[in-house]
Amino acid sequence: MSQHAIQRITVLGATGSIGQSTLDVVARHPDRFSVFALSAQRQDDKLLEQVLRFAPRFAVMVDADAAARLRAALHAAGSRTEVLCGSAALEEIAAAGDVDMVMAAIVGAAGLGPALAAARAGKKVLLANKEALVLSGRLFMDAVAESGAVLLPIDSEHNAVFQALPAAYARNPAPSGVRRILLTASGGPFRASPLETLASVTPEQACAHPNWVMGRKISVDSATMMNKGLEVIEAHWLFGAPAEIIEVVVHRQSVIHSMVEYIDGSVIAQLGNPDMRTPIAHAMAWPERIDAGVRSLDLFDVAHLDFERPDLDRFPCLALAFAALRAGGAAPATLNAANEEAVEAFLERRIGFLDIARVIEPCLERCAGFEVDSLDAVLAADAQARGLARAEIRKLSAAR
Ligand code: NAD
Ligand code: MG
Repeated sequence: MSQHAIQRITVLGATGSIGQSTLDVVARHPDRFSVFALSAQRQDDKLLEQVLRFAPRFAVMVDADAAARLRAALHAAGSRTEVLCGSAALEEIAAAGDVDMVMAAIVGAAGLGPALAAARAGKKVLLANKEALVLSGRLFMDAVAESGAVLLPIDSEHNAVFQALPAAYARNPAPSGVRRILLTASGGPFRASPLETLASVTPEQACAHPNWVMGRKISVDSATMMNKGLEVIEAHWLFGAPAEIIEVVVHRQSVIHSMVEYIDGSVIAQLGNPDMRTPIAHAMAWPERIDAGVRSLDLFDVAHLDFERPDLDRFPCLALAFAALRAGGAAPATLNAANEEAVEAFLERRIGFLDIARVIEPCLERCAGFEVDSLDAVLAADAQARGLARAEIRKLSAAR
């Protein structure tokens, strides 16, 4: 007999890279976890496979045609899973009374609503969707505090910092004695490419990350280092850390996932093979530990750990993110929205790689003075930034 009550999980973004790794961990521990609901945007064939395997109570497809196809296929297979459709249903499966924990693994600002719904409902929230915190850090953290939700970071760096902080952190997000938070960064596929080649890199090259297999948007963000910029803002909100104590360290092996330095000079690091199942399993079982299917770290094989300062000329997006964090107000939401638009345009070959920062910068300049004290204000800042970014993208693509 199991000694644990079974935890029911909703996986938002189940068909993505993080969603699939989450279900891999679930499958290893049928005595601990059962799936309450799964969601995807429009990949009904992949979601069908997952639903047949995990038999959740609900499956949500955002796209209506994909939902109809999934419903028909499940009916034919004799499945009892109920298919819901649309983004309101995402909030329902995130906040439902029968749910114990929610994996927030939708990519981009689209994930904010359901992640916030889980936080407001006091769930154990496993947060992969960093964009949600960048957009609405204060609102999100306030919702967590008010509802008594438990917020556990899935992003490998933040999960590492969480593990390097005192155990009491989860209930006291302002630990004392911390001097610096050191976020490691692989530097992405273009860390050492000649600068003059960057203008012509393709989406395929940008998505070929040296150490991690990830969705396309975060892969491009890693190549520009905007991913690290978003993570600096994420760390600010998660750990109550001012920009001044957050430092980015380029560490190309991706073995040290991040570090915390204390005022006595101690530096605590978390190491492991680059496999997202480690932070996922850590957060799912927290405060216990479970097998994640990750192989042991072979330090003799790793042999060297290298560290470099980030090159802000090569990676202007990182500097823009620090500037947005310092500016506050609508700047982080603007940075995120303009980046999402620019990355999409780059993936569709409408603009070049170096144009991504060129789209974001003028948007940031124009958002000063815009307050973001409510969800509506955040969404308005997001919409305004997307409008500005699309205009910049049109200019840049016309000039190509
Ligand atoms: P992905 O592109 O592989 O998967 C995204 C998932 O979100 C899919 O299931 C997709 O159907 C769903 N989705 C996309 N747009 C949607 C929309 N508009 N509405 C509803 N659902 C939508 O992405 P991923 O790599 O799994 O990343 C997911 C999140 O986790 C991102 O925020 C990313 O920054 C973060 N993250 C990922 C990794 C990683 O290793 N992949 C590491 C750290 C953080
Ligand atoms: Mg990360």
